[in-house]
Amino acid sequence: VLDAGFFVRWMTAAAAVIDREADRLTELDSPIGDADHGRNMQRGFAAVVTALEAEPPATPGAALTAAGRKLISSVGGASGPLYGTLLRRAGKAFGEAPQVSAEELRTGLGAGVEAVAQLGGSAPGDKTMLDALVPGIEALATSFDAAAAASEKGALATVPMLARKGRASYLGERSIGHQDPGATSSALLLAALAEVAK
Ligand code: ADP
Ligand code: MG
Ligand code: MG
Repeated sequence: VLDAGFFVRWMTAAAAVIDREADRLTELDSPIGDADHGRNMQRGFAAVVTALEAEPPATPGAALTAAGRKLISSVGGASGPLYGTLLRRAGKAFGEAPQVSAEELRTGLGAGVEAVAQLGGSAPGDKTMLDALVPGIEALATSFDAAAAASEKGALATVPMLARKGRASYLGERSIGHQDPGATSSALLLAALAEVAK
């Protein structure tokens, strides 16, 4: 069952995988950004884990709302408010329910992704986190593993794209040929989700 503890485990696993991959995320953010994505994500998810440990949430909604709030307040880069919005919007969709189904998780995260697109003024194909999040969350209808695989594929598909949003868009054509750091971290978040669902 997907109860509050499941969501705390997801955020804890996400923090761990981001820690492991932080250098790679920052390297991806070097040629097409400002080389801080790994640090931004590390700082944000460490703060999330600390907050969830200090005040254990009673419901899935409370867990994701608290996590989203922490990301927004602790990350200076664009990714903080965007990921914060994703989690807060999903948390809001869960309401006060003591547990959610896999289907409710998919619709909640789906609402979160729509909120990200609205906040970022972005759409799939713009070479952003949405290119991994949209296919990944859609594939949750099949399984957690399918979601992880689809988001990974979506992140790889950003390589030939021209960036239309965020810092990478300043480079125009020179953004082509590089994998988007945010799409890569999104795939890590869905990989962590599949890991805790096992
Ligand atoms: P910053 O660019 O402020 O340094 P980060 O490096 O932490 O922030 O995050 C960059 C990532 O944020 C990008 O790789 C991209 O995936 C995502 N991003 C940036 N702008 C947008 C946007 N408008 N919509 C969706 N995602 C975006
Ligand atoms: Mg950056
Ligand atoms: Mg930055």
